[in-house]
Amino acid sequence: MNTLETDYLIIGSGTAGLAFADTLLAESEAHITIVDRHGKPGGHWNDAYPFVTLHQPSAFYGVNSMPLGSGRKDTVGLNAGLMELASGAEVTGYFNQVMNHRLLPSGRVSYHPLCNHLGGGRFESLLSGVTTDVKVRHKLVDATYFSPPVPSTHQPRFSIAPGVRVVPPNVLPSLGARLGSEPNTPLPRHFVVLGAGKTAMDTCVWLLQSGVSPQAITWVVPRDSWLINRVTTQSSPEFFNEAIGNQAHQMQALAEATSISDLYLRLEACGMLTRLFADHTPSMFHLATVAPGEVEMLRRLAGRVVRQGRVQALEPARMQLDQGSVDVPSDSLFIDCTASAVEPRPVMPIFQGDKIVLQMVRLPQPAFSAALIAYVESHYDTDKQKNGLCASVPFPHQLQDYPKSMMVNMWNQFQWGQDKTLRQWIRDSRLDGFGKLMSGVDRDDAEKQAILLHFKQQAAAAMANLPKLIASASDEV
Ligand SMILES: Cc1cc2nc3c(=O)[nH]c(=O)nc-3n(C[C@H](O)[C@H](O)[C@H](O)COP(=O)(O)OP(=O)(O)OC[C@H]3O[C@@H](n4cnc5c(N)ncnc54)[C@H](O)[C@@H]3O)c2cc1C
Repeated sequence: MNTLETDYLIIGSGTAGLAFADTLLAESEAHITIVDRHGKPGGHWNDAYPFVTLHQPSAFYGVNSMPLGSGRKDTVGLNAGLMELASGAEVTGYFNQVMNHRLLPSGRVSYHPLCNHLGGGRFESLLSGVTTDVKVRHKLVDATYFSPPVPSTHQPRFSIAPGVRVVPPNVLPSLGARLGSEPNTPLPRHFVVLGAGKTAMDTCVWLLQSGVSPQAITWVVPRDSWLINRVTTQSSPEFFNEAIGNQAHQMQALAEATSISDLYLRLEACGMLTRLFADHTPSMFHLATVAPGEVEMLRRLAGRVVRQGRVQALEPARMQLDQGSVDVPSDSLFIDCTASAVEPRPVMPIFQGDKIVLQMVRLPQPAFSAALIAYVESHYDTDKQKNGLCASVPFPHQLQDYPKSMMVNMWNQFQWGQDKTLRQWIRDSRLDGFGKLMSGVDRDDAEKQAILLHFKQQAAAAMANLPKLIASASDEV
């Protein structure tokens, strides 16, 4: 058995672990040890399907000290005209750079890939089986809390009869290459996409863009979803009216809504949220973010959607669903997009004595959240103070959860605003896109100043209405 000593032992080298390490390195003299089961930094992005991209502009993602992307707008594809979205390959390449050009050269970070943390500061190499005991001088940091299950690594929760072809979306772009190695396997002529989340949407868009006709696609959607309009998430000044104007409209909706269903209709009316199919009211909101071009393309599948609940079993040419069975062509390829990227997890204090459990302090920004937690860890003394600045924002799993999430979100924002040095750190942080947009407004720009004033007034009104809205949620469900 090996032994080593460190100040902070971070479990997980995904976005959360690396964003935390990067800021801790900048704000302290600490030595950091990072352990991960993956062979490369970047966490779930190492397992992502080849056509994945970020949902939100690259500017909001990664670690604080190193920009991700070039700050350009996309000029081609369905995101054209909006700020660039890094592809999965760009994200993993970026995290390799973070590790090799920023963290390791500091001389204060040691990185142990392909190692499984067994608990209590002991980890085991997955290749050699050698275990290492880590003496942690300060804290163990659990950076696995957000960790999203992805299609290529999850186990489907339905049965699959022999002979039925089920694949994760990862294999789609290499179907042609497989012709060489599996010449006797016929190419599919029908595609059944299982799942209603962003991965399923990406897969449907990819199939359509690759020339598959809508008639050759069946899409199994257990629940329709509210989606964030990506136009409202842009971080560059030319989108000020869309981004900050939308923040103000969102606050107004939170201030004036009288029930949960009323809230979502108001958020739709102001352009923050969208739905794919006008005649189906969504019953899910997991903060997936889409461009108007994606919505338009997905609407081509309006007649191809099966809404009979979740898949129970796949048989040759047939699916058993919660509410019945549906026949599909015998040459169908089933594409499993049912991994839930947002498994429910209990909310807990972030600072727990000799342990930190990284969670969201601003929704939906895991990178900013982890960086801010590292700053707070470095500059404040007691867990009480630290948890006072970093309440964990619960992820909204049900429609009625969103007001609760927003209340904690806004409370954190209010606390940060009261603290001059933290406020300044946030202002200087590259991950705080909207804060910069707001603070950069010219005093003489009457239009933008009016938007800012509207935002401030509505934020105060929203805080007053949120408890009523939360109470109304329990009457509605
Ligand atoms: C397709 C997709 C697109 C997304 N787009 C965006 C976006 O645009 N903007 C945004 O803000 N968020 C986005 N997210 C969400 C975001 O990526 C995640 O919420 C979060 O950042 C994941 O990072 P993580 O470090 O928490 O988890 P992970 O990336 O899963 O990293 C956790 C790491 O912990 C390791 N680990 C776990 N247990 C152990 C153990 N016992 N021992 C050793 N290692 C262990 C795992 O191997 C893994 O590498 C997206 C998510 C998905 C799935």
